[in-house]
Amino acid sequence: MVGGLVDCPMCQGLKKIGCPNCGGSGILRKRHEESAVETPCPACHGNGVCQCTACQGTGFKQVVPF
Ligand SMILES: [Zn+2]
Ligand SMILES: [Zn+2]
Repeated sequence: MVGGLVDCPMCQGLKKIGCPNCGGSGILRKRHEESAVETPCPACHGNGVCQCTACQGTGFKQVVPF
């Protein structure tokens, strides 16, 4: 078996993962007094997804042969 590039197991090659900070909704809800304030998630800028940290957004993972 030779080394090479395989789809990243973390994002399945999608290069992006659901934002763990907001759970993929892109919105953070904070309870403030009696009203709920919705703010765009700063980690993903409201997109709900962020760059995969396992592959640095490449979608691939380097497999090193033994
Ligand atoms: Zn987020
Ligand atoms: Zn990845």
